[in-house]
Amino acid sequence: MTSAPNIDLLRTLPSVHELISDKALEHERSSLSETILVDIVRAILGQTRAEILAGTCTSLSQDSLIKKIALEAQQLTQPSLRPAINATGIIMHTNLGRSALAPEALAAVNNVARGYSTLEYDVGAMARGSRHSHIEETLCLLTCAEAALAVNNNAAAVMMILSEFAAGHEAVVSRGELVEIGGSFRIPDIMELSGATMVEVGTTNKTHLRDYHRAISANTSMLLKVHPSNYQMVGFTEAVSISELKTLADEENKQRSTNNTPPLLVYEDLGSGALLHLESLGENAEPTVTDSLTAGADLVSFSGDKLLGGPQAGIIVGSKHLINRLKKNPLARVLRLDKMTLAALEATLKLYLKPEQAQATIPTLRALSEDSDSVQKRAIRLAKQLNEVLPPQEVTTEVIEQTARAGGGALPLCDIPSYCVRITFLNTTPQACERFLIQTNPLPIIGRIHNDALLLDARTIDEDELITIVQAFENYFKFLAKEHHE
Ligand SMILES: *Cc1c(COP(=O)(O)O)cnc(C)c1O
Repeated sequence: MTSAPNIDLLRTLPSVHELISDKALEHERSSLSETILVDIVRAILGQTRAEILAGTCTSLSQDSLIKKIALEAQQLTQPSLRPAINATGIIMHTNLGRSALAPEALAAVNNVARGYSTLEYDVGAMARGSRHSHIEETLCLLTCAEAALAVNNNAAAVMMILSEFAAGHEAVVSRGELVEIGGSFRIPDIMELSGATMVEVGTTNKTHLRDYHRAISANTSMLLKVHPSNYQMVGFTEAVSISELKTLADEENKQRSTNNTPPLLVYEDLGSGALLHLESLGENAEPTVTDSLTAGADLVSFSGDKLLGGPQAGIIVGSKHLINRLKKNPLARVLRLDKMTLAALEATLKLYLKPEQAQATIPTLRALSEDSDSVQKRAIRLAKQLNEVLPPQEVTTEVIEQTARAGGGALPLCDIPSYCVRITFLNTTPQACERFLIQTNPLPIIGRIHNDALLLDARTIDEDELITIVQAFENYFKFLAKEHHE
């Protein structure tokens, strides 16, 4: 409500000094510098002054000013990036950090980040080494590649490969694969940025081998295949396989070898980059990195934090002479991985040396392959624990069957059977509860609203998160009761 401004109130505003030395701000004084605290106090005073002049503030207490200052200070000192509970049922949720790391990967990060490390030190040679060395051998072993390299993310890998091998040349790509993959990664844009000329062939739904064949000129340096990742075409469709592209490139390269033109490369941007065929995914399983290399790709790139289940990274595998050129490209320095990521990636890759171990310990693989009975049991446990503490006149809970998703631009058609706890509110809205769980609970809990109920998908919830969820709901109803009282 606005009324005539109470100018007299301005004179009662406490001074910066009075506020800053208030007993109640002891904690803030110990965690923030005086300059920063003064800035906060001035901002709050300025804001209050403006509100008084606008007539939106008609009474004043030192207490309420102190509360505002404390809240502002708290926002500054508390982490903005913090853990959250993923109750969405989307396993590799890009907004929630995609893949959680295996305990082995976490331990490796902790070990290496705590002190100095052998990041670029070759223990065997007792001399300067290369940061690439820590993961290359394992990657080669796991994918049957000759050589490997990892950079910041797969978008960076695509960019680097295009700029090393296709800048100033033509790269041929099917119109059916000119995809956009969340967060503004578009193949045509990356092409342009890299300096490569994109030659589109085929149509949206069908591209034939002869389309590629016709598009090849003396200036073509690459046949690019992009895994469509987050969408799938069904119906009257046709795409050309890596092995067919390889055959085409081989024919072309026979002629090129006689006239000294650089060879035509086959490169596949595989996107999610599975190292294993997950049986639980059945026919939806993605082609593995090895499948692509065996089919004839000279280079393959994929993400570290999608189906691999490791840290954010872009991994490139393929022929040794090509990888060597990439290692010498200045972009390898620009896009290089830091020691924490390398440690997490190395530890994650080592788990794959024994596939059963990878499936049992890498959270993304576990979430994808956990059988639905066990997901259902967890949903039932959550519902039961909620019922034990929540007022029955306020909520009803039931366990319902739902479909979870892989997310992260992988397996778009794969319906992963799952179970949700469905919570209906009798005296409040699911939106109000959702807001509390995300904004007020110290650990944001992110579910989804469907048909006027809040759904918590048990597939992406960890057993040891159940208690936190139950406590958050308990706190919500306490908060409601208090609000009702006031
Ligand atoms: C996800 C994806 C990318 C981008 O990978 P990031 O690791 O997120 O940079 C590129 N290409 C394809 C086909 C993808 O699926």
